[in-house]
Amino acid sequence: MTEHAPSSTQTSNGPRAGRPADEADVIVVGAGPAGSTTAYYLAQAGLDVLLLEKSTFPREKVCGDGLTPRGVKALVAMGISVSEQDGWVRNKGLRVIGAGKRLELPWPELSSYPGYGLVRPRTDLDQMLARRAQQAGARLFEGVTVTGPVLDDRTGRITGVTAKSAADGERSYRGRIIVAADGNSSRLSVAMGLRKRDDRPLGVAVRTYYQTPRHDDDYLESWLDLWDSDRLLPGYGWIFGMGDGTSNVGLGLLNTSAAFGHTDYHALLRKWLAGMPAEWGFTEENRTEPIRGAALPMGFNRTPHYYQGLLLVGDAGGMVNPFNGEGIAYAMESGEILARTIAQALARARQAETERVLAGYPRALSDAYGGYYTVGRMFVKAIGRPGLMRFATKHAMSRPALMAFALKLLANLTDPRGDASDRLVNGLSRLAPNPK
Ligand SMILES: Cc1cc2nc3c(=O)[nH]c(=O)nc-3n(C[C@H](O)[C@H](O)[C@H](O)COP(=O)(O)OP(=O)(O)OC[C@H]3O[C@@H](n4cnc5c(N)ncnc54)[C@H](O)[C@@H]3O)c2cc1C
Repeated sequence: MTEHAPSSTQTSNGPRAGRPADEADVIVVGAGPAGSTTAYYLAQAGLDVLLLEKSTFPREKVCGDGLTPRGVKALVAMGISVSEQDGWVRNKGLRVIGAGKRLELPWPELSSYPGYGLVRPRTDLDQMLARRAQQAGARLFEGVTVTGPVLDDRTGRITGVTAKSAADGERSYRGRIIVAADGNSSRLSVAMGLRKRDDRPLGVAVRTYYQTPRHDDDYLESWLDLWDSDRLLPGYGWIFGMGDGTSNVGLGLLNTSAAFGHTDYHALLRKWLAGMPAEWGFTEENRTEPIRGAALPMGFNRTPHYYQGLLLVGDAGGMVNPFNGEGIAYAMESGEILARTIAQALARARQAETERVLAGYPRALSDAYGGYYTVGRMFVKAIGRPGLMRFATKHAMSRPALMAFALKLLANLTDPRGDASDRLVNGLSRLAPNPK
């Protein structure tokens, strides 16, 4: 049995003494932000972790590349340097354009979150997180595609995964606990019978890059004016300066609009950009990448988050914020919650106790996001109604104080005992029922 030869940038973590290379305490499938963060915290807790990733780093991921202060906090917690000297592009807040108005909303001043956001291409970010997990001791196998679960014949519980790779062909890996961090389509969850829920919001977004003088913008920019003939669509367009001569430009729509299923996203993007000032350079000649799209699974759109030995984290568990489409921070936060739960569970002497602790993971997620996502579902439903998005945009854009409050609500940025607007957002989330 051969272990993959580590490349020059990899650490050569080996299996525990006496244990075969294809066995571990925990197998994490997928090394996106959710999987790498989970593996990092598990390894820090002293567990033997195998992190299986189908691609090889650096690899592309379709994304807006934007991080709010929530994402910054998650990076800092993992000991990642987020200084500008290390290639990060900082932003001061969100510029919102809609209903003929333009508002600059600085990120709120809070003790719980830093006062700035970041931009970084996912090719860099995801590689950085995966290497961080390795530095902590996780064993990362790249170029390994997980093809299905290995089940216990008697109980139906997952005890490992089958996988294939160019180096080793087909083989299986065994672990006491298996984590699905394989993103929106989460084939592993589907193979265990866990499908997406139709009663939860879903977004679709497309993005590309343009060479533009706007590349060093110090605000994230969001456009609320996406029109389908005379109907304002529930979603937004974004322009995020990458600081390297290009901007990440894209748009996303929610499945609560009638237009959702039959929108030509490429055409909508081109139509929206056609209305931009010519000097910004959002033209076909300046486009540096193809237009690519993917889904945003929101508000816990795949449950249960623990089932028969399999735990779901990040997009696999539908953790994108329904208010703003942000997913990186939630993938990383849920990874930390999960790793701490697993570390406690595996320290219990009896299997029944281990199970009791693991059953606490869905509850911990509900405590963290349940009420907030319920409010988010109501919001998404409301703005999907014709006329309401238009009414809300027109009225909110003329009231900067209301928009500053909206930023706290939409980006989920409050202090537990903050000012009146923090308390209102927190109160709404607390009062809203946890999703079933
Ligand atoms: C167009 C678009 C723009 C977005 N913009 C933003 C933004 O600006 N900011 C933000 O915070 N969020 C944004 N998001 C959401 C964000 O990209 C996701 O929420 C985030 O990537 C979730 O991380 P994850 O680790 O759960 O999943 P992923 O990032 O999808 O990672 C899953 C990993 O699993 C691997 N994998 C999959 N299947 C297998 C398999 N069978 N075997 C082994 N490995 C496997 C994949 O290769 C991948 O590395 C955007 C999404 C889209 C579509």
